[in-house]
Amino acid sequence: MPGMFIDVKVDLAAARDAGVAKKLAEVCPVNIFAQNEDGTLRIVEENLDECVLCDLCIAAAPEGTVKVVKLYES
Ligand code: SF4
Repeated sequence: MPGMFIDVKVDLAAARDAGVAKKLAEVCPVNIFAQNEDGTLRIVEENLDECVLCDLCIAAAPEGTVKVVKLYES
């Protein structure tokens, strides 16, 4: 489920990459990304609407694999 204002979409291959997941968990200032026990990425849905649109996640992941969607603009 997306947040009310923000959804974050991550390519499946990137979400399964423990290295990418770790970076995302590190860079997001409002903890929208976390890692499952197997290292794969978990989106912390209850934090989605805290997104400050800093784009650090987009910069940290391989190009084009993370998208931050503003639901209020669609
Ligand atoms: S844009 Fe910033 S606050 Fe929003 S999900 Fe990415 S890293 Fe987190």
